Amino acid sequence: MAIDLHIHTNFSDGTDSPNEIVEKSKAIGLNAISITDHETMKGFSKITKDNLEVIKGVEISAKWDELSANNPESGIHILLYFVKEDDTNLNMVLEGLRENKKSRNNQIIEKLNGLGLEIDMEDLKGDGDQVLGRPHIAELMVKNKYVQNIPDAFNKYLGNGMPAYVDTHQIHIHKLMEIAEASKTIPVLAHPHTLNPKKNMLVNKKWINKDLLDNLSRLVSMGLMGIETYYSSYNSPTRKELSSLAKELDILETGGSDYHGDIKLGLHLGTGWEDKPLEVPNELLEKLKEKYESIN
Ligand SMILES: [Zn+2]
Repeated sequence: MAIDLHIHTNFSDGTDSPNEIVEKSKAIGLNAISITDHETMKGFSKITKDNLEVIKGVEISAKWDELSANNPESGIHILLYFVKEDDTNLNMVLEGLRENKKSRNNQIIEKLNGLGLEIDMEDLKGDGDQVLGRPHIAELMVKNKYVQNIPDAFNKYLGNGMPAYVDTHQIHIHKLMEIAEASKTIPVLAHPHTLNPKKNMLVNKKWINKDLLDNLSRLVSMGLMGIETYYSSYNSPTRKELSSLAKELDILETGGSDYHGDIKLGLHLGTGWEDKPLEVPNELLEKLKEKYESIN
């Protein structure tokens, strides 16, 4: 029996509704899931099925100046687990971040236009509460035949440090960690490789190094409580190395597919990519819950 603690719905850049996620998760035999949309908690109220345990989470992009100064392609995403929908302070922060993201989308499109790619801002429309971001712009770029597919759009234009990248939308990591503490949620670093991306990083594993350990130690001193050791792109040796890092730092391990529906084709809910199937053990959630109880 397995779990999946990193899932996106159509409230951010996934394509399945929250109820579809619950149904699919149930159908493939998952024990529990977490919905972790980008910068929004609005999807939870749409879940009408009560036959599966759903942990409420949110994923937030942060800015860490020291990190990006040395490595413009780096990025840091924090998952907050056990968020509460009536948390006024967190809601205010998320609302602000969503506004920033809207103006960032416009800035990205302006940059693309400046690079000769005609993308119309009017075409970037979601339905109501949907948080739009780079994947939606990438979809328009594919539609207008400027790139082959979504990964191509990120590699050439939208990815961190690329010509149409804009980083003004994010919250500073120190601030985000304060918010995590105030909201009594559990902050976990999503997909740790994005702290230290290198070419072929997922193949040669060279990103698991002293730099990563140093950065993780600094994050832990700011309040980080866990890292995602089970992730779709990680093979078994990578997972094991990350797991020993987590033990060394005495922090939690979590895991999830980062499922986005049709926006990440070939990436499956619960099991990730076919060539290195994911199976996140239940016990990680048990430990996460114990931690949550200890801080609440
Ligand atoms: Zn994600």
